[in-house]
Amino acid sequence: MNFLFDNTFCDQMEGFYAPADAARPSKAMSLAINHALAVKLGLKSACASNEMLAQLFSGFALPAGASPLALAYAGHQFGQFSPQLGDGRALLLGEIIAPDGARFDIQLKGSGPTPFSRNGDGKAALGPVLREYLVSEAMAAMGVPTTRSLAAVATGDRVQRERSHPGAVLTRVASSHIRVGTFQFFAAHFGVDHVVKLSDYTIWRHWPELAAAANPHLALLDRVIGLQCELVARWMGVGFVHGVMNTDNVAICGETLDYGPCAFMDRFAVNAAFSSIDTNGRYAYGRQPQITHWNMARFAEAMLPAIHAVEPADVDAAKALVDAIPVRFRAIWLSEMRAKLGLGKPHKDDEKLIDSLFGELEQHSVDFTSFFRGLAQLLRGDGDMLQSLLPDAEAMAPWIADWWAQLEREAIAPLERADAMDAVNPLYIPRNHLVEAALVAAEEGDMAPWHALLEVVQHPYVHRPEWDVYAHPAPEDAAPHVTFCGT
Ligand code: AMP
Ligand code: MG
Repeated sequence: MNFLFDNTFCDQMEGFYAPADAARPSKAMSLAINHALAVKLGLKSACASNEMLAQLFSGFALPAGASPLALAYAGHQFGQFSPQLGDGRALLLGEIIAPDGARFDIQLKGSGPTPFSRNGDGKAALGPVLREYLVSEAMAAMGVPTTRSLAAVATGDRVQRERSHPGAVLTRVASSHIRVGTFQFFAAHFGVDHVVKLSDYTIWRHWPELAAAANPHLALLDRVIGLQCELVARWMGVGFVHGVMNTDNVAICGETLDYGPCAFMDRFAVNAAFSSIDTNGRYAYGRQPQITHWNMARFAEAMLPAIHAVEPADVDAAKALVDAIPVRFRAIWLSEMRAKLGLGKPHKDDEKLIDSLFGELEQHSVDFTSFFRGLAQLLRGDGDMLQSLLPDAEAMAPWIADWWAQLEREAIAPLERADAMDAVNPLYIPRNHLVEAALVAAEEGDMAPWHALLEVVQHPYVHRPEWDVYAHPAPEDAAPHVTFCGT
């Protein structure tokens, strides 16, 4: 196994992290190794045995060249500022450069305490590790920017939460683990020099072209806002609820980060929230754009001293960037929705059609994911799927007629349009009831349902009759889905 580490954060950013070590687990038993990702990263995993990989990806024997460390960060959690968080159960092993030149962090999650663990044990339970692996790989397959999962390894140790669980370690791959909260930490405790240093490093690492801007820190703010708007529009498009959009869980690089109490909606509900601790629905489905606005305002605040240091007048420009977020988000979201509905060029009547869709979906309790596939089937002359999602033949009929009329403005063959819709509307997502069943089986030692589900969600778009059970919504009488943070 060939890890060619090139650890720039460790080498250039002393004072922004604490060196740390992995705890040695009792055992290292491979649960899942992402060979396709390993090959993409140039890790040549095909040559290594699963046992050897499990040792590397559990903290049992760290790869040569690793410089393990825990990143310092702060963050607003449910609106309250926590000045001191940091990687309490994660360890950055180092950075590698993939064959295509892209740089990635390789991080262990759940490998034991670090200087930032506070009262936590630094460990992760098997269920949440497998959940993050599954959901992140599903997101990647749908083209949603995300951290990836390279391995899940059982440690043979027990992890105590509300009850005792088997322990595991996730190996996470990210373009970087720099968060909004990383900037907040250095803005709150150290002042402008540190913010400038972190901003310069972030620009060098992710978008070196921004260094040439008149005010690179302002350009960084602009870029990060743009990427967050795009990310959240993609979440909305696939019915994803992140569940804990605290600023420490917002990655600067624009990838979905920290899959805790996340879930996908079945039947559409704008207030869908699944996290056991999100009692007020702060992070509900429909609030994600506003929360992004709020989080980006916090990012701007942390960046302001650096922006001001280059050009005091740019503070107003930063404020304007933040104020423009709702308009910027809506434009991106509308284009996401247009693609889902098979609408081609923007037209003035699109907005009304799109805005009116959600009330209809909610009123008729329609399965969000299947609905868009049902529309494409209708274009193919088959109305059965759509009808099966609606309570009666009249439900949504006026909306569907409007949609149809809108499509007819453009001369695109219906079959061509249906194929284009199917290429952006997933048929197979990690449905909550299937995820839960797979995790229960895994905890009892049977990994087969989890592997089967992973295979399905890695191929989200193309219908396979033998996978029909994976496309069905949860049974109507299923209990409301609740997810817990306790990784
Ligand atoms: P998260 O829920 O992943 O956003 O984590 C919030 C903060 O709590 C981060 O600083 C984590 O490192 C820390 N944390 C969460 N779980 C643990 C744990 N089991 N042990 C130590 N720190 C933890
Ligand atoms: Mg987190």
